[in-house]
Amino acid sequence: MGETRSPWGQESTPWHQFFVVKAPLCTPTSQTEWSRHVLEVLRQPLESGTVTVSRAARQSEFPARFQLVAAMNPCPCGWAGDASGRCQCSADAVQRYRMRVSGPLLDRIDLHVDVPRMAPAELRPDAAAGEHSAAVRRRVEAARAVQLERAGVLNAHLDQQGTAAHCRLAASDQALLEHAIESLQLSARAMHRILRVARTIADLADTGPIGSAHLAEALGYRGFDPRAQGAAA
Ligand SMILES: [Zn+2]
Repeated sequence: MGETRSPWGQESTPWHQFFVVKAPLCTPTSQTEWSRHVLEVLRQPLESGTVTVSRAARQSEFPARFQLVAAMNPCPCGWAGDASGRCQCSADAVQRYRMRVSGPLLDRIDLHVDVPRMAPAELRPDAAAGEHSAAVRRRVEAARAVQLERAGVLNAHLDQQGTAAHCRLAASDQALLEHAIESLQLSARAMHRILRVARTIADLADTGPIGSAHLAEALGYRGFDPRAQGAAA
């Protein structure tokens, strides 16, 4: 992907390729194919919901709150971790490929989900259908309503104080979280994000307080390690 001219000058970051300010969803498909610099500039808007553009004479701030959904292959050939064993990429090649997504950017992505290849039987027309999207939508809408009533904002937008107030854990779960933060070497930012995800999982289950299973699931979404080779598919 080459440089792109922008309204602010020739030396540009191709902002408009990532988001239109009003768009709630941002999908840079196969993020390892984007230049690392372009991916890194997402860190500010992901954190603050704004983007600041500075040029010699002036500085402007634009609203940029969006939901980032990104996909990447596990290795250059795309087959690492597959049961077929087709991947012939070297460990170095896989690591170099995965390191194009930096730790600080990964830190700001709440849900890391492996999507393995589907078995042919699962693609048959008569294969069992999953839950209907309409049912999922009703559950999501109910969870959002609960969040707005409880805190006035969605869980994703809770600040540090709001997170402390509304994402409380039982003592044993707090110990589990602290142990996980230590062993996974996660940041304070990641810890707050995990708490908000656990709060959302509990809201979707409509069970009141955050339970051990909700926390464990939220921690499970932090499994991607760009330095690991071949684990994800
Ligand atoms: Zn490969």
